[in-house]
Parts: sequence; C-alpha cells; structure tokens
Amino acid sequence: MLEASHISVNYGPIKAVRDVSIDVGRGDVVALLGPNGAGKSSLLSSLVGLVPKNRGTVVFDNEEVSRASTEDLIRRGMSVTPEGRRIFGDLTVGENLRLGAAIRSDKDGIAEDTEKFLDLFPILRKRFNSAARYLSGGEQQMLAISRSLMSRPKLLMLDEPSLGLAPRIVDQIFEFLVTLRQWGLTLLIVEQNASEVLEIADRAYVLSTGSIVFSGTANELSNSGGVMELYLGLE
Ligand code: ATP
Repeated sequence: MLEASHISVNYGPIKAVRDVSIDVGRGDVVALLGPNGAGKSSLLSSLVGLVPKNRGTVVFDNEEVSRASTEDLIRRGMSVTPEGRRIFGDLTVGENLRLGAAIRSDKDGIAEDTEKFLDLFPILRKRFNSAARYLSGGEQQMLAISRSLMSRPKLLMLDEPSLGLAPRIVDQIFEFLVTLRQWGLTLLIVEQNASEVLEIADRAYVLSTGSIVFSGTANELSNSGGVMELYLGLE
C-alpha cells in the first residue's frame, strides 16, 4: 500500500533521515522504532508532505505521490495522528472531530462516523460541547485518533500514541489500535515504547541516527536481543 524508497530529509546541515526505504502492505501493522532523535517523526512528516524530502519517492496505492500536497494525500487515504496529540484545545470536542472531516462533504457519512466515535468513547459524547483542553491526556489521545479517522483513511500513521500516558491508558490505546486493524485499516506506528507496540505489529523497522538498522517481523525483532538492547534499551 505504501512504498517509500530512498527517502532523505535534511534540516540545513542536519541529516535527519538518510536514504530510508520502507514498505507497508495493505492491512499490515508496521512499527517504526528507534531512540530519541533517530528521525522517526521526520520520516513520517515527509511521507505526508509536512516536511520536504531532499530525495526519495513515495508510492501510495500504486500511484506515485512523491510531490503530492498533504491535502491531496489525505484525500487519497492517508492520515496522521501527530506526536503530542495536537488537538485544538480551545475548540470543542465536536469541532475537533468536524475538522478531521474537513475534506468530506457527505453530511450523513460524517454524522454516522461521529456517532461511531462517540459510542466508542462515551467521554467524548459527554464533553462534546466542552473545550477539548479539559480532557485528560488519554482522552485527548482518543480524540486525536478519532479526529484522524474522520477523513476515512486507508492508512493511519500514528506518532508516539503512548507518549506521556499512564500504563493503563496505554493499554487502552493499543486495544483501540487492534480494533482499527480489525476494521481493515493499515497502520504505521512510530513508538519509543517498543515492547507494547511489538505485541500488535506484524513487522518493524528500527531507525538510528537517520538510517534503518533493522527490518523484519515483530517476532524476529523481539528475539533479536542485540538490536533490542543496543537501540531500544530493552533486554
Ligand atoms: P523523537 O522521538 O524525539 O521525536 P525522532 O526519532 O522522531 O525523535 P526527529 O524528531 O525526526 O526524531 O529528529 C531527527 C533529527 O532531526 C534530530 O537531530 C532533531 O534534532 C532534528 N530535527 C527535527 N526537526 C527539526 C527541525 N524542524 N529543524 C531542525 N532540526 C530538526
């Protein structure tokens, strides 16, 4: 579904992503792991056109989209839940969800999807007309993911969905990601929390200082003590 080849991202002299190629098959859950500053967010942002690539090509759904705008990519079925959630705190929960559907004009479909997320997360229904900043961190993450889903993506990319959340909430988020896979979504998940994401991923890539240092199945990575210890701080 997504084939990114030889992607490089530079910020002036800083080479954040160096000649990285990744493949995400339809229906797959793929983890993109690596330490702080490895270039994970830069790679994700470049895939959705939020930061420019210096080199590389992106093929999505069999079409080359290397130079497509973010809006065009969203229309084609990509969506991203950014790091730190980036919900609009002064807007209501309902307004945040509406913004996720900005590219759509099918009112009935939008209403149907809104109901779906309000059923899934009753707290969002309860707070529908309150400013989103009053939600807890976990609730904001549920809202952020729901908002990304309001564009009805085929591929959802999540940047550190577990960041800063209590373990119980992290479990809920990952349970929700398993539900998304059952709905047929393809997921690319950037995480520092390797052990949790490897439980739900099919395959994984490990980035370190801008380069891929491991690619393989989630099982292979879990059993590869050296990579786990060296790059992910796990034994
Ligand atoms: P983290 O988990 O901390 O977000 P990451 O793996 O996502 O790390 P990036 O945020 O992509 O890594 O950062 C990769 C490198 O690029 C780092 O050295 C970072 O300081 C640098 N960098 C990221 N964004 C910018 C920017 N807008 N301008 C300049 N340098 C940047």
